[in-house]
Amino acid sequence: MTQLSLEQAQEKVTALREQLNKWADAYYTKDAPVVEDATYDKSYNELVKLEKEFPSLVTSDSITQRVGGEIKSSFSKVEHAVPMLSMGDVFSKAELKEFDERIQKVIGHPVAYNAELKIDGLSLSLEYEAGKLVRASTRGNGTVGEDVTANARFIKDIPQTLPVPLTTEVRGECYMGKESFALLNSERDAKGEQAFANPRNAAAGSLRQLNAQITKKRDLSTFIYTWVNPPKNITSQHQAIDELNKLGFHTNQTGRRFESMDEVFDFIDEYTEKRNSLSYGIDGIVLKVDDLSLQNDLGNTVKVPRWEIAYKFPPEEQETIVREIVWTVGRTGVVTPTAIMDPVQLAGTTVSRAVLHNEELLKQKDVRIGDTVKLHKAGDIIPEISEVVLSKRPADSQPYQIPTKCPSCGGELVHLKGEVALRCVNPMCPAQVEERITHFASRQAMDIRGLGPKIVKQLIDKGFVKDVADLYHLSAEQLGQLDHFKEKSIDNLLTSINNSKENSVELLLFGLGIDHVGAKAARLIVEKYKDLEKIMNLSVPELTTIDTIGETIAESMVAYFAQPQARKLIQELMDSGVNMGYLGTDEGEITDNFFKDKTVVLTGKLADFTRSEFTKKLQALGAKVTSSVSKKTDYLIYGDDAGSKLTKAQQLEVPLLTEQDAIAQMNKNN
Ligand code: NAD
Repeated sequence: MTQLSLEQAQEKVTALREQLNKWADAYYTKDAPVVEDATYDKSYNELVKLEKEFPSLVTSDSITQRVGGEIKSSFSKVEHAVPMLSMGDVFSKAELKEFDERIQKVIGHPVAYNAELKIDGLSLSLEYEAGKLVRASTRGNGTVGEDVTANARFIKDIPQTLPVPLTTEVRGECYMGKESFALLNSERDAKGEQAFANPRNAAAGSLRQLNAQITKKRDLSTFIYTWVNPPKNITSQHQAIDELNKLGFHTNQTGRRFESMDEVFDFIDEYTEKRNSLSYGIDGIVLKVDDLSLQNDLGNTVKVPRWEIAYKFPPEEQETIVREIVWTVGRTGVVTPTAIMDPVQLAGTTVSRAVLHNEELLKQKDVRIGDTVKLHKAGDIIPEISEVVLSKRPADSQPYQIPTKCPSCGGELVHLKGEVALRCVNPMCPAQVEERITHFASRQAMDIRGLGPKIVKQLIDKGFVKDVADLYHLSAEQLGQLDHFKEKSIDNLLTSINNSKENSVELLLFGLGIDHVGAKAARLIVEKYKDLEKIMNLSVPELTTIDTIGETIAESMVAYFAQPQARKLIQELMDSGVNMGYLGTDEGEITDNFFKDKTVVLTGKLADFTRSEFTKKLQALGAKVTSSVSKKTDYLIYGDDAGSKLTKAQQLEVPLLTEQDAIAQMNKNN
């Protein structure tokens, strides 16, 4: 039981939901999780506990009450005749025993279970009509999924035709084997593309592709484990799997039927050990009541079946030795320590760095150079030092000395009041200037293409820029002195810098990198006050009249513009012709559509429109139309005689649309 009042609980519940929704969006919709599963699970379970203790706080849209997943708007939607649910999970054998006791209580006698491996992929539904595969779909939000039929046709182990003319639906897991995952990631590394965080994300990212040719190139597999509407003679889960196998589906043969929990526990122990030697990733064991009629009697909650549960493996751990602790300076002067360790294989990737976050945490964990540490990743993303193995600490070990000087400019490091972070407060510190300019040029801010961190570093090192205003005075002659900068790259960068002058001012406001002022806050402020000269002079009460702008943001804004150097910077930007006004329409936001917020490139001869007409149409839908293809391009729209841009897009696996595909998508929005 917590000691919280209803009000405090409400606050906590709201914060947890907001956090979990963000993580779930990154995980399910973008296939790019930002935290480990264990971190997500911990917050999720905290929310479950609070909702149990304060039932009046449960709302139907809480993540505990719905299947967490959204549909990418670019896919056609498929309504699931039978919902595709999530699954309850437990983290200990004791909790698994409680699950069995609950089942026995409802059923009135002991039951047999089918124990199966929990495959680390994404669920896939396959529908057959008269024995022919007619539809494949993802789980989506459980009720509506994404149509991935074209993609599923390229997964080799999915039967396109069944040996008998059945009209039926089966479900299973689409996954990428460990070897294919490692190969794909090494290819992506070689091409300078972002590696997938784990096999689950690689599978999801490979299946959920608009261009099925990309799926074709990825080595995906399936394990089918559910028969949605089995024939009458199939009465148990293990029998269903056997029959599905006979029909030609790829089924996992490790599943076993057990009549006692002790046998189930042995199965768990067996696969906890074997898990690393399997050719595919698993993150636990699924226990299913074997008898299908009992499954039916037990039914489902809004989110999960009552007759099955997942036992999740504890996070994996490895030991390694800390060789160095490096400190990096961020945009706002915060210096962050990172441990550099002997490389180790951890849950599928090689790990040699772990962020230690701040001085306090470093001291708390008492990490020292030469220490053996336990490293975990919970099968996922961010490597973290769990603890130091004190028994292996060298006898002559010394406590780590926290630096007192900035690693970039040598300035004194300080703690600002109430902050755990160490900061370099020298505004001219090269590392900070570098981060500030990189942020200013970033896609969400002024979007100056071609001005990445490496170029920014060279510009600073050569003394060409000291702040963002200097960017607007760069000359072709100066850019010509940068490494590998030829006429074309000089031209492109100068054009990008020049184009950025026309941006609507919320991008500039965000690009200034004011503490706490994110892209959304900047937009809200600009939407209300329209003009930077006015915004610079707003007071805290004026700013907080805007919904969701709190005192922290408002105070930070006011403090920033109170600095004479900030005003001077704005004046210099203004003198260079940088737009200071809001260019958004008063008609409000562009509604969600296929092209909204997408970066699109046009190439080849278009049949129905001129290039500029087509560009305007795309822009009106909220797309950004650019001239060159890069990893950041979301779609390439091509007409006749398309040349090098099409080839490059194919190499970079950018989704392709013909002019007619694009027009069809545009029409869907009318
Ligand atoms: P889940 O993935 O834990 O379990 C349900 C799924 O298991 C099913 O939909 C099915 O696809 C799959 N499965 C694999 N083998 C199976 C088998 N033999 N039988 C039946 N199903 C099998 O549940 P979920 O709702 O998809 O996701 C919740 C989990 O996802 C969380 O517990 C968390 O670990 C993870 N998650 C992580 C983040 C993050 O940011 N890291 C965010 C959201 C969710």
